[in-house]
Amino acid sequence: MKTVVIGGGSIGLAAAVVCHRAGHQVSVFDPVGFQPVQPTVEMDARVWALGPKSTGFLSDIHAWSPDARVCCYRSMRVIDARSDARVTFEDPRLGHLVEAHWVRNQLLKTVGGSPIQCQQQAVARVDPKGCVILEDGQTIDSDFVIFAEGRQATTAQASGFEWLDGGYHQRALVGTLHCEQPHDGEAFQIFTEQGPLALLPLPDRDGEHRVSLVWSLPTDAADALAQCSTDMLAARLARLSEAARGALRFVSEPVWIPVSQHALKRDALGCLLAIGDTAHGILPLAGLGANLGFADVIALQQALRSHPSAAGDRLARTVARERCIDHRTVAMVMGLFSDVFRSDQPMIQLGRSMALRTADRHPLIRSLIQELAG
Ligand SMILES: Cc1cc2nc3c(=O)[nH]c(=O)nc-3n(C[C@H](O)[C@H](O)[C@H](O)COP(=O)(O)OP(=O)(O)OC[C@H]3O[C@@H](n4cnc5c(N)ncnc54)[C@H](O)[C@@H]3O)c2cc1C
Repeated sequence: MKTVVIGGGSIGLAAAVVCHRAGHQVSVFDPVGFQPVQPTVEMDARVWALGPKSTGFLSDIHAWSPDARVCCYRSMRVIDARSDARVTFEDPRLGHLVEAHWVRNQLLKTVGGSPIQCQQQAVARVDPKGCVILEDGQTIDSDFVIFAEGRQATTAQASGFEWLDGGYHQRALVGTLHCEQPHDGEAFQIFTEQGPLALLPLPDRDGEHRVSLVWSLPTDAADALAQCSTDMLAARLARLSEAARGALRFVSEPVWIPVSQHALKRDALGCLLAIGDTAHGILPLAGLGANLGFADVIALQQALRSHPSAAGDRLARTVARERCIDHRTVAMVMGLFSDVFRSDQPMIQLGRSMALRTADRHPLIRSLIQELAG
C-alpha cells in the first residue's frame, strides 16, 4: 500500500514508522525539512510531559533512549490559589519531562535508518481518492493519506475536512527558569486567578536547579504581561507559585505561544485520516496534546495489526472510530477545567475546592484522572 504522511512533526514521523513496519511504502512531506535540531546549552522552552503509554510506544519503535536531558517526575501537586484545596498524585511511573525537539530528533533517527522517503515540500491538498497535490503542482497517487500537519490544519481543510473552533483563545508563556529550591521530581501546578501555572521539573545544570514554565492566560492579560521585563515576570511567577520553588530567574528568553481548542467534524474522509494536533487542539492544561497524538498512532498501529490487508478507507474509519470518544472527552474536560478554575462565582469556587479535596482523599478518582492523562 502507498501511504503519504503530511507533516514531519513527532506525530507524523511516528505514524510513518508504524505504517512502514506494517509493510506500507511510506513518504513523508514537510516544508521545514528533516534536519535534527541541535540541543542548546539550556533546555529548550518547549517541553512535553509524556506519560508511560507514550514512552512505552516510543520505546517499542526504538525512539526512546533517555539521557541526561530527560527528567523523570514521580509526583504532581495541584493547588487552587483561591482556596487551600489541593490534590497530589504520586506514582514512580507518572511520566517524563522532555524537550519536544529531543523527541523529534529520536524519531528522525529511527526514520533515517529506514526506507521511508522524506521530502522537503509542502502539500497543498489531497483529493477524495488519495491523489496528493504538492504546492509546486506535482501529483502523487496514494492509497492512504495521514494528515499530521499540526494545529493550523490548512491542507486538511483544503481537502474537505471541516474545522470546528472550540474557542478558549489564550496565550501560553513558556520558558526555562533557574529555581532556588530543588523540585525533587515533583510537577507543580497552581490555578491562579489569571490561569493555570505549571513549574515542571527539569534536570539540574552544574548543580543548579531548573524548572520549565507553562502559564496559560487570557489574551488581554497576556498582552499586558508581555510588556514586563523578564526579571519582573520571574518575580511575579515566584509570588504566584507561592514560592513553591523559591526565587525564580529566566535562563533563556521566554516565549509566548497562542493556544486554543479545536476539533474536526470528522477525522476520516474516505482514505484520508487526520491525527495529532490536526485532529484535536487542546489547551496545555494537563500536558496532554502530544500524548493524545501518540495515542492516535497507537490506535493506527493496532488497526494495522488487526486488519493487515484493510484498504485505506477502512483503516481511516477504524482509527477515527476508536479515537473519537477520547478526543471528545479530553476536549470537554479541558474546557470545563478552564471555565471552572477561572470562575470567581462563590458556588463554583466551593465546588472546585470540594472536587480537589475529594480527589485528594480517593485513590480511585486520582487513578482515573491519571489514566485520562495517558
Ligand atoms: C505551551 C504548550 C505546552 C505543551 N505541553 C505539552 C505537554 O506537556 N505534553 C504533551 O503531550 N503535549 C504538550 N503540548 C502539545 C504538543 O506540543 C502538540 O500536541 C504536538 O506538538 C503535536 O504534534 P504534531 O506532530 O501533531 O504537530 P506539529 O508538531 O505542529 O508538527 C506538524 C508538522 O507539519 C508540518 N506541516 C505544516 N503544514 C504542512 C503542509 N502543508 N505540508 C506538509 N507538512 C506541513 C509542519 O512544518 C510541522 O513540522 C503543548 C503545547 C503547547 C502549545
